[in-house]
Amino acid sequence: MRIPIVAGNWKMYKTVKEAYELASDLKRRLMDVNSVKVILCPPFPSLVTVKNAIVGSNLFLGAQNMHWEKEGAYTGEVSGEMLLALGCEYVILGHSERRIYFGETNQMVNLKLKTALNEGLLPIVCVGEKLEEREASKTEEVVKNHVLKAFEGINSAQAELVTLAYEPVWAIGTGKTATPKQAAEVHRYIRNLVSERYDDNLAQKTNILYGGSVKPENSEELLNEEGIDGALIGGASLNADSFEKIVISAMS
Ligand code: PEP
Repeated sequence: MRIPIVAGNWKMYKTVKEAYELASDLKRRLMDVNSVKVILCPPFPSLVTVKNAIVGSNLFLGAQNMHWEKEGAYTGEVSGEMLLALGCEYVILGHSERRIYFGETNQMVNLKLKTALNEGLLPIVCVGEKLEEREASKTEEVVKNHVLKAFEGINSAQAELVTLAYEPVWAIGTGKTATPKQAAEVHRYIRNLVSERYDDNLAQKTNILYGGSVKPENSEELLNEEGIDGALIGGASLNADSFEKIVISAMS
């Protein structure tokens, strides 16, 4: 039985004070929500503050990225161990903005995934095609590459801890959403890949989130689709009202 997950990726938004206010507000609003796993992923400087704000609630804390090395001379980077030590449970890996703007490759995502799992963090691995790839009918090829390369050297006990997020790049922050049918089709494809790579039992347990301009107006329809197990929300997670509405839509 997969419990719906709604994760908010705050990207590079919110000062520490603003992050505290948003997290505290969400804690109050979502106090009674038990049937959806809600994860807040603020920027690094606000992680500790948000952790303190949500203590005693059923909200989880996630980071947006990490390095694959345990420690070292990597100026500007943050390790998995550091994230775990401050109370992070989840970490987003391979977000398309990391792949596009910071040159993150499938190999780097794979290294990060291995380290995250070794450290005891629960990874949310993002996969998805660009517009030109969809238009060239390469969606499955790209998604297959992202998924299978991420899982290289990962055994099934580890893979069970991984959440996948299908995030078509053309739908992120653009206001364009994949239709529920388009999204469900790719989710089915991803679940099949997991089944072929591991087994059907694991595939049925794997949470596959959809991300890409999810908002209160479209979340219910998307989340009602068979095989869409939750959502990774960017823009709409920055506002307590819209994020709360999306979480509530995941309950039905
Ligand atoms: C994201 O950042 O993962 C995302 C899906 O962004 P948005 O909801 O703004 O499209």
